Formats: sequence, structure tokens, C-alpha cells
Amino acid sequence: MTEHVRVAVIGSGFGGLGAAVRLRREGVTDFVVLERASSVGGTWRDNSYPGCACDVPSHLYSFSFAPNPDWPRTFSGQEHIRAYLEHVTDLFGLRPHLRFDSEVLRMTWDPRELRWDIETSGGRRYLADVVVSATGPLSDPKVPDIPGLDTFPGKVFHSARWEHGHDLGGLRVAMVGTGASAAQIVPAIQPLVSRLTLFQRTPPWVMPRVDRPISGAERALHRALPVTAQLRRGLLWGIRELQVQAFTKRPNELGIVEQLAKRNMARAIKDPALRAKLTPDYRIGCKRILLSSAYYPALAQPNVDVVASGLSEIRGSTLVAADGSEAEADVIVFGTGFHVTDMPIADRVVGADGRTLAESWKDGMQALRGASAAGFPNWMTIIGPNTGLGNSSMILMIESQLNYMADYLRQLDVLGVPPGPRGTGGRRVALDARPGAVHAWNRRVQDRMTRTVWNTGGCTSWYLDANGRNTTVWPGTTSEFRRATRQVDLAEYEVLRAPATLKRDQVTA
Ligand SMILES: Cc1cc2nc3c(=O)[nH]c(=O)nc-3n(C[C@H](O)[C@H](O)[C@H](O)COP(=O)(O)OP(=O)(O)OC[C@H]3O[C@@H](n4cnc5c(N)ncnc54)[C@H](O)[C@@H]3O)c2cc1C
Repeated sequence: MTEHVRVAVIGSGFGGLGAAVRLRREGVTDFVVLERASSVGGTWRDNSYPGCACDVPSHLYSFSFAPNPDWPRTFSGQEHIRAYLEHVTDLFGLRPHLRFDSEVLRMTWDPRELRWDIETSGGRRYLADVVVSATGPLSDPKVPDIPGLDTFPGKVFHSARWEHGHDLGGLRVAMVGTGASAAQIVPAIQPLVSRLTLFQRTPPWVMPRVDRPISGAERALHRALPVTAQLRRGLLWGIRELQVQAFTKRPNELGIVEQLAKRNMARAIKDPALRAKLTPDYRIGCKRILLSSAYYPALAQPNVDVVASGLSEIRGSTLVAADGSEAEADVIVFGTGFHVTDMPIADRVVGADGRTLAESWKDGMQALRGASAAGFPNWMTIIGPNTGLGNSSMILMIESQLNYMADYLRQLDVLGVPPGPRGTGGRRVALDARPGAVHAWNRRVQDRMTRTVWNTGGCTSWYLDANGRNTTVWPGTTSEFRRATRQVDLAEYEVLRAPATLKRDQVTA
């Protein structure tokens, strides 16, 4: 079966659903949202581990166009964020556009017809004039290739694929990794397990999380006077905007924050040897700062061992660290992150010259204004290269990219000739980012990157790719990005025109 659509959105997390809402608001109804899973939610569907919650306050970590006066906590849990996304789906009438169990296996640009030919699981094929790829930066779990993993007799799973049917009560659990997910999982499971061994390659900097229930009175106020929720959001945003300069231009100023983080650790960790293990040797902010008031107290409990070394080998139920120490375990939980700079979707996108996006990005991901790659016309990505944030809400960046997407579609409308009543006579156009424009944008981003804490802070992190280049984080404020993505600059694109437009039914037959 083949379906022709104007726009194919891939993914139904915040990015894909946001794109769908925006398309409808722009009057575009001829679109589908292709989702490999069987429900919406993305990150917040897939990550259901104990303790899973946002680490940017909910009133900022939500769509500006769909405020939720009823967030239950300052940092709401996964189930509430997932329910919010289901609610957004219903509120904006997105269900008819959703195509679940539709994993995009390959999409190929057809240079003659100027459209994307998309193969999905289940054999269904889509022809789309424009593709909006919102497959998520943190959606494909990464499990390290540990020698002997296949000899482990117990249960093994990744934090983003939690096995809820497997009760951890009374078991010896090994947690591998100390990122944002691990910092939430450790305190949630420590009271249940008999022994928790944490394999820590690098200690994170951890600041307290001021998490509390949002009172009934506050919620009633936000419902009755929506402007109060807007003010709250504005305040949360403004504070984070003011922090950006320290991350991007003056990392030395972050020394004060390090002192606060050390004090936070000292309050919970009384053992000097454990404190030494947990003290980072790089500038705070270089890796994502973790927010948790429960992580250190959990690590101080007698049933927890912190191994200050990565897991290097597994011999049956014995886990061997790089420093030679050994621990026994019944379950291994990998909190080892995602394929971020080597996202699998890039292998599945075949551009104008027959090369995949992954081949085109072999020296590092780059995209004009975080959205468009040269040689991949009418394809744009949401949360593309260098759009990530170290300290604020990704929803702000997504909404900026949606502005760009909306203008992109408007430009296509202006440049093209719409088909006549029976699908004939139109002239389709496509926009292909000029390589010079992509390089110029990327050079500006990378020049600014040289002073940032992510590049100078003395750590290695998932922000950096295999070549040590930071292709993930935006080195500026969210307002700067908003300005940079307000509209498409046609000088940055080559306009491609189809030689002649066929009747729609001729194409889809
Ligand atoms: C545990 C966790 C906590 C986080 N907390 C925060 C936070 O507090 N604040 C913040 O700003 N950010 C946070 N993030 C980052 C978060 O990923 C983004 O904020 C945002 O949710 C990303 O939305 P998205 O739609 O781009 O991607 P996702 O939510 O990852 O959605 C991508 C969707 O694409 C689908 N998909 C992927 N490949 C294909 C394919 N080939 N075919 C079809 N469908 C496909 C996936 O199934 C998924 O549904 C967190 C991430 C994680 C993992």
C-alpha cells in the first residue's frame, strides 16, 4: 500500500507531536506521524524506570501552547508527563494522523519527483513532499560491548527498557553508569535490593533538586488566572537564560557552583574515602549537572558499593571492573545512555546523491540552523545537531524549530505552483540547504563552542562525538536560537523545481 502525503513526521515524542500541532495550526492537514511504537510519548513512554522524572521544572518542560495548570510536582514524574502528551494528542485532534507500529526502515529522495519515498515496517510505503524527522536524540539505547556479557546468568536490561516484570526485591543489582537516569534509579531501588554495586567511570556533579508537590491552591490559581502559570514559566526560563553565559563564555564563574555542589555532597557523605571517589576532577557543567537530593544519601547506605571504575569484563555472575575489583550480581542495569552522535536513523536516510545521512555526517553531524542537511532536500530534523541544552528545557528549542518548519512550508507554498482541481498542472519545489551555508553555520557554532565549559571543562561526555567534536549542544541562549530560527533565509537554500508534475493517482498507482 502506498499513501501520498504532503508531510511525513517521524516520531511521536514532544518533537513529533509538537510538529503535528503546528502543522494543523498552519492549515496543513495532509500529513502522517509515523511511530515505531504503539503509543505516543517518545522518551516519556520508553523511560519508565523507578524514579523517572524530568530535571527541568514541569511548568517550563511543557509546550507553551498547551499549559498544564495541574502539574502535580515541580519536577513531575514520567507517568504525568506521558499522560500530558496523550492529552495533547487528544486536545489537538492528532489521532487521525498517527500511524503506530510504523518504523521507518529507509527513506530515499527521489530527485525527479522531488519527494521522499519512505518504507516502513509492515510493508506500508509513503510518498512525502517533506519529511520532518523527530526521532529523538535520546531514543536508541546504547549498551556497551562488555566481554563476557553473554555468560551472565541473570537479567540484563537498559534503563530505557525497564523490565517491570522482574522484581528487584532482595537481589544483588549492578548499576552501570552514573548519568541522569542512574541518579534517579539509584535512590529508587536502593531500599529494595540486598546489594547495589554502582560502576562509576566518572563521578557526576550533583546539585540538590528542590522538588515538592504543587499545592491545590497553586493549581487553582493557575487554572483561574492562567497568567500566573505564564509568569511562573517566564521566571523559570529567565533564570536559566541568565546562567547560559557562565556555561558558554565564562566557565571559571562556575567554580562557585562547584563549592555548593561539594557542600551538598559533604552533607550526605561522611566517609572521606567515599567522598574522594565521588568528587569530580573536571569543571562543573562539563557533563550534565545532575539534580538530586536523594542520590548521595542513597550512596551512603551500607548496602551500596561505589566502584570508581568502569565495568570491563563479566565472568558468569562476577562483574570485573577496569581497576580489577570484582562484584557479584543477579541483575545488571545499564544506565549507559543513547546513540546520540551516531543516531541510527541517519543510516536510513538516503539523499540526492545516493549517500546516506550517516555517510554525509561521517566527520560529524552538522545541519543548517539545527534542521537542514545539504543534499537532503525537504528533510528537516527536530532537535538536530547542536540544538541540545545543558541547563534548560528542550521544549523551547523544539518550539523554535517548529517556527522554522512552519516558515519552510510557507516558502515552499510561495515558490511552488499548487496543483489544479484534479491534481494536475502544479509545479512542486524543494529546498536544499547550500553546502556553503551549512558550513558557515557550523563554523559559527564551532567557533563559539571553543570557549564553552563543554569543550574546555576537562571531561569527556556524550556531548562530544568520536572525533571529540561537540555536535550536540547549542552554545548560546534559547532566545538566540529562537531568533536564528524565526524564518528561513532563502539565500541559504537552492530551490529545486520538478520538471513537470504528474497527476497524483499516476504517482501513487
Ligand atoms: C530519562 C530522560 C529524561 C529527560 N529529561 C529531560 C528534562 O527534564 N528536560 C529536558 O529538556 N529534556 C529531557 N530529556 C531529553 C528528551 O529526550 C527531550 O526533552 C524530548 O523529550 C525529546 O523529544 P523528541 O520528540 O525529540 O524525541 P523522543 O521523545 O525520543 O521521541 C522520538 C520518537 O521517535 C520514534 N522513532 C525513532 N526512530 C524511529 C523510526 N525509525 N521510525 C519511527 N519512529 C521512530 C521513537 O519511538 C520515539 O517515539 C530527557 C531524556 C531522557 C531519556
